[in-house]
Amino acid sequence: MQPESPPRRPLLVANWKMNGLHGDGLARASALAHHAASGDCAGDIVVCPPATLLFALRAVFAGTRIALGGQDCHVSAEGAHTGDVSAAMLADAGCAYVIVGHSERRASHGESNAWVAGKSAAAHAAGLTAIVCVGESAAERDAGRALAVIGRQVEDSLPAGATPGNTAIAYEPVWAIGSGRTPGPADIEAAHAEVRSGWERQFSGSGAALRVLYGGSVTARNAGDILDAPGVDGVLVGGASLSADAFWQICQACR
Ligand code: PEP
Repeated sequence: MQPESPPRRPLLVANWKMNGLHGDGLARASALAHHAASGDCAGDIVVCPPATLLFALRAVFAGTRIALGGQDCHVSAEGAHTGDVSAAMLADAGCAYVIVGHSERRASHGESNAWVAGKSAAAHAAGLTAIVCVGESAAERDAGRALAVIGRQVEDSLPAGATPGNTAIAYEPVWAIGSGRTPGPADIEAAHAEVRSGWERQFSGSGAALRVLYGGSVTARNAGDILDAPGVDGVLVGGASLSADAFWQICQACR
């Protein structure tokens, strides 16, 4: 008989994107910290604010169960890269996680799978857990290529040293991000199974402990159903994470 793999602890990630000045960012973070101190959530909670707020939020989240994450990092540890942030800088600011390969960056900054793999390697070198985003476009889904695209992105966006301990993968269909549309549970299940298969093809069978998150128009209303879908180990939340109350309801939907 195969030994049973241990249950994967859910991961709930708030991606604030380019939203939040000092005042409203601190107010949102404080409200979330207050919820987390008084309520229950069965998973690990991560907030990824704009880089300008990291040091301030580190103080707000100190002593709470909320971890900090960056929204992106450069492949290099330092150097002549105007406007970029290195993984070491994120770690120095108190981050334990960093999102890499988000579709908005793949689209607007032309990031390739290989470049995303380089960012993941930089994250690991700095001691961060990389949350690697993959997902098909509407055209790719309509052409019946969704699973092939996802599998290829997984295989090509991960560096050699990736393990389920230093990496999570977020399946984020591009057409679902910010659109109010989500795939059905069967499509989410199939995509997550393909993510795990892609990992296993790349790393010869070590995928049982890998956390695979869903992202794309997750709300307090649909989070329970999404988190209950087979193979879903958490969520990556954009728009709804801009409300501390809504994001906390999502955290509480995690059973
Ligand atoms: C995202 O940008 O990662 C995301 C999932 O956004 P939203 O929840 O707004 O669709």
